[in-house]
Amino acid sequence: MKAICWFRYDLRLDDNPAFAAAIASSDAVLPVFILDSVNADSHYHGAASRVWLHHSLNALNDSLDNQLFLAKGNPTKILDTLVKKYEITHVFWNRVYEPWQIKRDRSIKKKLKEKNIHTQSFQGNFLYDPLKIQKKDGTPYKVFTPFYRKGCLVNQPKPLLPVSTTEKPVFIKTNTSIASLKLLPDRDWHQSMINHWQPGEIGAAKQLRRFINKGLNGYKKSRDFPSLNGVSKLSPHLHFGEISVNRIWYAIQSAAIQQQCEDDADHFLSELGWREFSNYLLFHFPDLPHKNFQPKFDHFPWHKNKHHLSAWQKGMTGYPLIDAGMRELWQTGFMHNRVRMICGSFLVKNLLIHWHEGERWFWETLVDADLANNSAGWQWVAGSGADAAPYFRIFNPVTQSEKFDPDGDYIKRFVPELSKLPNKYIHKPFDAPKDVLKNAGVTLGENYPRPIVDLKTSRSRALEAYQEIKY
Ligand SMILES: Cc1cc2nc3c(=O)[nH]c(=O)nc-3n(C[C@H](O)[C@H](O)[C@H](O)COP(=O)(O)OP(=O)(O)OC[C@H]3O[C@@H](n4cnc5c(N)ncnc54)[C@H](O)[C@@H]3O)c2cc1C
Repeated sequence: MKAICWFRYDLRLDDNPAFAAAIASSDAVLPVFILDSVNADSHYHGAASRVWLHHSLNALNDSLDNQLFLAKGNPTKILDTLVKKYEITHVFWNRVYEPWQIKRDRSIKKKLKEKNIHTQSFQGNFLYDPLKIQKKDGTPYKVFTPFYRKGCLVNQPKPLLPVSTTEKPVFIKTNTSIASLKLLPDRDWHQSMINHWQPGEIGAAKQLRRFINKGLNGYKKSRDFPSLNGVSKLSPHLHFGEISVNRIWYAIQSAAIQQQCEDDADHFLSELGWREFSNYLLFHFPDLPHKNFQPKFDHFPWHKNKHHLSAWQKGMTGYPLIDAGMRELWQTGFMHNRVRMICGSFLVKNLLIHWHEGERWFWETLVDADLANNSAGWQWVAGSGADAAPYFRIFNPVTQSEKFDPDGDYIKRFVPELSKLPNKYIHKPFDAPKDVLKNAGVTLGENYPRPIVDLKTSRSRALEAYQEIKY
């Protein structure tokens, strides 16, 4: 028996049910990754994700003794060719839930079955199967807390697979090259970005260990402070499935007992719950990336302003915390969660620019860009989502900055031109007296922008716009 293990968002060998099944049930395995350039359409990986994927695939290929078959194109055709060429009898994969992937996979499954190829799919990327969680009346949850408490926590997540002790699997030998995927851009901006990370299974395990040793205890509080190393930064590893979410769940639970920090651990696990919730929403409401979850937002009077959008993207709004966040994103492919919420709120509320623009920019620039989390995150920020922040809650970037970056350490890291300003003014250089600015080497309008909008006026304008759709 010969099997294909088709890797997608599960770029790991540990706790990978499809890979384990392929090895257990066949004499030889062909590990395959196909960069789907045909079905993804507007959901093809963004630029930062492609760079991550390149490195992650290299790491997976190393773990597979360089036997990962790599191709770009239409998986339907490529799998068909491989099945014939290598006399494959079985195809295994872990399920993925983006609407276009579900559609594609159903059709592939049908076609393979018609050719008498045995297919089997597993739940390897999430703790819970979105199909199995529903309210008592049979409809899907739309609010996080009952979804998590009554839908998820009443069941234990899937048990972990035993760590394999079998001899090395036999791989079918092929000869492909990662260069053929053309994931890296021509221009050399990506090297400094990826230096912040170690994509792949080894990097993911290290990141989890670092978090358990240095971040878990105190997480609940420090997760709000962007200058601290208080969050796990596991999101890109989780997105590409370089570590199993079950592995994380159980590791955190046992660390919580050892470190006696159950409260911190519960909070962290609930963040994994938000990941489940976003995926669940996307599964049950496949229009989530495009359509307002609350249709009343279809009539929202969004503004189009290229200059404002560009200032936001470049981190040149004149509001230091926003600029630090947008530059963190550009330089590292990541942005801290609290700052994502504040930068998002600034775009959709103070600038009145459609959340689609923010969603697109994050999609291109985040290494953890994830269709479910990104769409749900933006709809949450805009107030148009399921269980979203109410529209009238508008983050004030100055007071948020004073509260969560009190010494301006995060700002100084990403907006170095303000680093000599005293704490009192680093959050609002536009209020600083002339001599203070001069002593700090800041000239507004020259080496740091003046604010592109006034906070008070733009807040009132946002609330007025909201009144227009309130019914
Ligand atoms: C506008 C906006 C856009 C976002 N876009 C994405 C995205 O494209 N990809 C992405 O993975 N997350 C996204 N998020 C959610 C969240 O910001 C990130 O998951 C988090 O910052 C990742 O950092 P971390 O791994 O250190 O998180 P931790 O605090 O260490 O949390 C652990 C894990 O829980 C999950 N998680 C945490 N917060 C959330 C959340 N609010 N929603 C869903 N899952 C969560 C992530 O998988 C994360 O790795 C977005 C949030 C907002 C407000």
